[in-house]
Amino acid sequence: MILDTLNIEQREAVVYPNGPLLVLSGAGTGKTRVLTARFAYLVEKKGVNPQTIMAVTFTNKAANEIKNRVSNELNLSIISHWIGTFHAIFSKFLRKHSSKVGLKSNFTILDIEDQKKLVKQVVSFLKLDNDLSENIILSEIQNLKDEIILSNDNKEVLRHSSIKNIDMIYSLYQERLLEINSVDFGDLLLHSYNILKNNPEILMSYKTFISHILIDEFQDTNVIQYELIKLLLDDEKNIFCVGDDDQSIYAWRGAKVENILNFPEEFKAPVIRLTKNYRSNNSILSAASEIIGHNKNRLGKNLECANKQLENNKIILQSFYSQEEESLWIADSISNQISKNEVSFSILVRLTAQMRSIEDKLIKYALPYQIIGGPRFFERKEIKDIIAYLKLAHSNDSDLSFERIINLPRRGIGEQTLNLIIQNSRDKKINFLNSSRELLESKSFPQAVSTKISVFLTLIDKCKDLVNKTNLEDLGIFIIEESGYMKMLEIEKNTKKKLENETRIENLKELVNAMSEFTNLDEFLEHVGLVNENIKNTEKNNITLMTLHGAKGLEFDHVFLPGWEEGIFPSARALEEKGQKSLEEERRLAYVGITRAKTNLYLSYATSRYTYGVNNFSIPSRFLSEMNSSVFNSSISNEGSIKSKVKYIDDGSLSPGKKRMLEFLKKHK
Ligand code: ATP
Ligand code: MG
Repeated sequence: MILDTLNIEQREAVVYPNGPLLVLSGAGTGKTRVLTARFAYLVEKKGVNPQTIMAVTFTNKAANEIKNRVSNELNLSIISHWIGTFHAIFSKFLRKHSSKVGLKSNFTILDIEDQKKLVKQVVSFLKLDNDLSENIILSEIQNLKDEIILSNDNKEVLRHSSIKNIDMIYSLYQERLLEINSVDFGDLLLHSYNILKNNPEILMSYKTFISHILIDEFQDTNVIQYELIKLLLDDEKNIFCVGDDDQSIYAWRGAKVENILNFPEEFKAPVIRLTKNYRSNNSILSAASEIIGHNKNRLGKNLECANKQLENNKIILQSFYSQEEESLWIADSISNQISKNEVSFSILVRLTAQMRSIEDKLIKYALPYQIIGGPRFFERKEIKDIIAYLKLAHSNDSDLSFERIINLPRRGIGEQTLNLIIQNSRDKKINFLNSSRELLESKSFPQAVSTKISVFLTLIDKCKDLVNKTNLEDLGIFIIEESGYMKMLEIEKNTKKKLENETRIENLKELVNAMSEFTNLDEFLEHVGLVNENIKNTEKNNITLMTLHGAKGLEFDHVFLPGWEEGIFPSARALEEKGQKSLEEERRLAYVGITRAKTNLYLSYATSRYTYGVNNFSIPSRFLSEMNSSVFNSSISNEGSIKSKVKYIDDGSLSPGKKRMLEFLKKHK
């Protein structure tokens, strides 16, 4: 039963005798399926107790698939603590042995907001003159934990990190976590590692208990994950890894592709290669192979299409004048196909900033969609911050906005001052803004605070003045620049952790783009409100929007990959870094993206992108020229053709989404 649905190579892997084994093969060749089958096989045919098999998956979804599949096939309900992501598995382990690291078993896993508060307290307690954001500090602490660098090892901490005073911050942060019986994500693995390392009797009991370890997406394991696994292996070394070096896309988060490359030698393990791809049609596979063939640092493997039933649609490559047209085309194409069959669609972007215009068009077309792995555009922190300025410029009564931005970016206005403003507003029944004006006029603030409040109020007055004098785009730029918000992001970016702030800066530029589509602030703020409302009402979820990084291991009938332009994909940062390393990682990301598609792949780029008030011309991504033109559908590649198609199409052939949008507009005119 288990083996019936597998090909010869897959079967060989599944029934492989005990000992280490690596299954190394390209996308869609059935690695995850083989891992699941191996689990079932061990239980059914080898009589292994399912509770003793540790199976590490990349997502919780994959973990549930294993449990369901094994439950269905073996008619056996599986409740195991050893199937899940690294974090899920080791959080359970840690609960059991928490006392060994000074925690109670009911410890709390802090969310990011609480972690930030804690770091803030620590920095202020240490009286450090530290202007780094909590995010930067936390991400550095996470990196240290991933590399197994302990907080009491000051020398190592300082050797690995250039952040000022990080040794003191890290060490006190850990102390405080223990005091409040809490952990962060990094601790789940690091505490577990320490428990196993420092308690031979515990280690021995698990080594004896765990009979097999199975790991999916092995190419993206980091130092601590791999070391944990190695600790738990007994002499028989029943470690079954599946992975693809071409899909290693998390080096920037500490993943070590060397783990998979060195595995055969380190463990004297045989390697089984699966060559048949069951997911994608031939055009998609050729495109993927051609692109990845340009990478030098790879083991190299072939993919052949084994699913002859898949329609061999060619890849559609489309260029546009602008990102807005590109997004419109995506919504229109989905809308045209969605009514036909039950099919899955996914739009995979390189940068989160690309999502905004796509979300907008999906909403206009009333297409229900889901964003995986991240907040929606208008719910992102930096966007909400700037929108708070806009709201306050729009209305004096926006007290929540006032509270949000009075000290953002930091301008030295503390809790005490805010409390004074709030109290006064309550007493006089006036809004916060007027309350602060009144306190300023009555000289109720200390002199130093007075000056700061006055600067803030002048800024808000200027914004209010601009609302009627200039276009929205310029108002947006004014706020982002004059408030010091952009400067704050750039300073943080330059000090250390670039990546996150780059994204936030991109998002702010995208916000300005979004604003440029509206004629006045009323309309824009109403749109923001509606967008958020609209999203809450959607239930059908066969359209997903996510980043390429989040799409690993997944598959969809139709995949859209927009924004294939130099500077977006490959990203500007990869290009800046010159050397081949980052470029090769971007190329692997392209490979991951392409190989998510089963039958229909749509690649697109815009010849110009309007960013931050300037129209920038862009060059198509080098990755496009790395594919042979025979994989593309040549009939549609004229620039702007979709524009005419979407705008002037006759009524009879309108997509359902377009019809809905036109009807809506008619009603509301
Ligand atoms: P990725 O590298 O993207 O994680 P993968 O190698 O893990 O891919 P799977 O997701 O396991 O591949 O399989 C890809 C698709 O092919 C799935 O839909 C799976 O059900 C199907 N598949 C795998 N092996 C077979 C087979 N022998 N017969 C039919 N379908 C198969
Ligand atoms: Mg997989």
